[in-house]
Order: sequence, then C-alpha cells, then structure tokens
Amino acid sequence: MTTTRFAPSPTGYIHVGNLRTALFNFLIAAKSGGQFILRLDDTDPERSRQEYADAIKEDLEWLGLTWDRVEKQSDRLDRYEAAAQELRDMGRFYECFETPTELDLKRKKQLNMGKPPVYDRSALALSEDEKAKLREERGQGHWRFKLDHERINWTDGILGDISIDAASVSDPVLIRGDGQFLYTLASVCDDIDFGITDVVRGSDHVTNTATQIQIIEALGGKVPSFAHHSLLTGPQGEALSKRLGTLAIRDLRERGVQPMALLSLLARLGSSQPVELRNSLEEIVEGFDLSTFGSAPTKFDVEDLLPLTARYLSQLPATAVADTLYGLGVPAEQADAFWSVARENITTLGDLEGWWTLCRDGADPVIDEEDREFVATAMGLLPDGPYNADSWSNWTAAVKEATGRKGRGLFMPLRKALTGMDHGPDMSVLLPLMQVIRAKD
Ligand code: GLU
Repeated sequence: MTTTRFAPSPTGYIHVGNLRTALFNFLIAAKSGGQFILRLDDTDPERSRQEYADAIKEDLEWLGLTWDRVEKQSDRLDRYEAAAQELRDMGRFYECFETPTELDLKRKKQLNMGKPPVYDRSALALSEDEKAKLREERGQGHWRFKLDHERINWTDGILGDISIDAASVSDPVLIRGDGQFLYTLASVCDDIDFGITDVVRGSDHVTNTATQIQIIEALGGKVPSFAHHSLLTGPQGEALSKRLGTLAIRDLRERGVQPMALLSLLARLGSSQPVELRNSLEEIVEGFDLSTFGSAPTKFDVEDLLPLTARYLSQLPATAVADTLYGLGVPAEQADAFWSVARENITTLGDLEGWWTLCRDGADPVIDEEDREFVATAMGLLPDGPYNADSWSNWTAAVKEATGRKGRGLFMPLRKALTGMDHGPDMSVLLPLMQVIRAKD
C-alpha cells in the first residue's frame, strides 16, 4: 500500500512552499487509495510549539488535505535511541568533539586549498582515553554516521537518475552534543517504521536523501521512492525564501484566496500540464502526474491566485456561500438573486460586503456637472420600488424619450447616480436588488 507523509516542523506557520510538498504527498496517496500521514518533526523542544502544530492542522484542514493519522517525533525518542545504539553496535556511528568554530576553520582551510568542505573524520582516530578526556573538558560529543564511501544512486521521481559520491558529503551528525536527535535519523526511523513508500520533498533535501538512503540500508529498512521538487521563486525568479513568511497559508486565507484556487495552481505550477481551475480535490487528484514536473525553479506569483479565486467563486451556487450571505444579513429570499449578480463582480468573498451595502443602503450619487439637469429629469421619471427585471429598460426608455439622450450618455450618468460607480453588474439585474435609491431623495 502506498503511504506518504508530510513532515513539517511545528516551528512556524506553513507557507506556499510547504504546501507544495504537502499537496504532492497527499495526491500521491490519494491517487492510489493509500495513506497520508501528518508527521510533526518536533525534536527541537526549544523551537517547536503546540500553537504551530495546531495552526498547521487548521491550515491543512481548510485546504481539505486531511490526513489518516498524526505522528509526533517527540513521542518516539526511545526508538531513535535504539536506532542510534544499533548504528554504534555496527561501527557506523562515532562521537566527535569539534566545536562549531573548529569545524568552521577546517571548512575554510579546505576551501582555501580548493577542496570540498567535507568533514575529515579526525574523530575516528581518537582513542577511548582521548575521548574520555575530551568528554571531561567539553561535555558529551556529537555523533556522526559513518558513510560508506561509494556512489549512492537512485532514480528520482522528478530529477531522474541521481548518483552522488558519498565521499563528497560530510558524515551527517545525527545526535547533537546536548543529546538532541536530529531530523536525519528521526526521519529515517519514522519512514521505516511507518512503511513510507514515497517521499516527495524540496530539492534542498537531495544531499539528505543520499545520506538517508545509507542510514535506511544500515538499519535494514526498505528505501522509499524519492522525488525532489524544485523550489519556488518569485515572479522574476528571485529567491522566495525571505518572502515566504508573507506567503503563509493563513495570510492567503485572510486575503480571501479560495482553497481550490491555491490547490489548482500548486498542483500544476512547474509541470508541463497547464494550470486549470478545478472545482474539487477529486478532480485535482485525477489530473495529477508527478512525472510531468520539471527540475527548473518554479515561478510563483501570489497575484495569480486572485483571478483563479474570482473564477472559482463566479460559478458557485448561492448555497455554497450561504454562511457568508447570512453573515452579511442578506435575507434568505434574496440570497439567490443577490449572489447571482454579485458573484460575477467580486474577486474574493470580502468584496461582497460592498455590493450588499449598495443594495441595502444605496450609494451617494455621483453626478457630473453637465448631467445635473438630465439626472434630475430622470429621477422624476423613476417610479418607487420595488423594481423588477423590466424596471431598468422601462425607465431608461422613458428617460430617452423625455431627454433625447441615448447610448452611453444615457446609461452612464444613471449608473453613476444610482450606484456611485462607473462600473458594476448589468443595471437591469442590479436595480431590482436595490432597496434604496438615494439619488431620488
Ligand atoms: N521536517 C523536514 C522539513 O520540513 C522534513 C523533510 C522531509 O520531508 O523529510 O524540511
């Protein structure tokens, strides 16, 4: 059975970059009727917060990306300790005592000599006595996994055939000096124990994958299929990393972006298939194909979400937005009529309030100097409401006859007098919704 996971660290709100990872993993599981696990990578007690874990769940639920179960790495520390012991027993795990400054210096020296900055394994040469002494001086060391120096190969679901020389990678630190397990080990244990079959994550994890494949194999696990999606950039190709904070899912929700707009865009952006608005997650699942994604950085423009949101809303029935209409105070018997007019003229649901206020309270008339007399005559010809579907054409015909005006010169001043705006819905459908015509007073 296909099992995937989305593994955010609850150290902040999730943003569009994280969502891409979540969505791909969700879709792979959904497409094959498999399982999707939400895994909270919370081994860092200082930075992990319950409020972020709650927020991540809330954001995913809002999008409809529901999970089959939640796992927390902080619940599994015993398992990580057991795995660490296994690696020690097989001689693949060694304790190191270099300080960050010392490591930095080593790296600089290597770079100066034109060598790749790979950890030189000098800790491997320490005797037990030397280690005991260092432990006394510096406290517990950190632990590194000893990579086998051979090529690590896999066929990536997006990047194709990858081959990395393990000798070009530092032995990864799996336990910090303060005893904290690092993600690299925890993730491997989880992927093995939860039977993860497919892992999609950002291309910033490619080197991790190489080392994790060796750790999985050392622990006797089955290596999942890996795929690394490109990272998102801004519309000009600029790095998005600094702006990601402003692209949190909850901020987009606040701006009125609709889940289907966001999901439709992210399910296709960076693939050879065109972005198409979808109306349900099921349709997105159906049209998803990981193999159509490319390795080039993917341009993301938050503004693209607004037209998609507008299009999504413009085809919804009133029942789908009943709560919003009710919240605005639109009477149930007017909901259908109001929504069918308003939905064509909004970008987000937040724009509804303006249209409803116009219908309920009318608008301050906008009357150009040269139209003053014309509008006064027209208002004298406008009967009292309520109005129906014929009211606008009957009225404008009468005004035309009385004033001789026609076309734009006839209609635009009347629109501006009634709505205070020079644009908006067809007046013949708007007028019957208007309960107050201030220009008449
Ligand atoms: N917590 C890791 C991250 O957010 C998970 C990476 C993975 O999917 O393995 O980068």
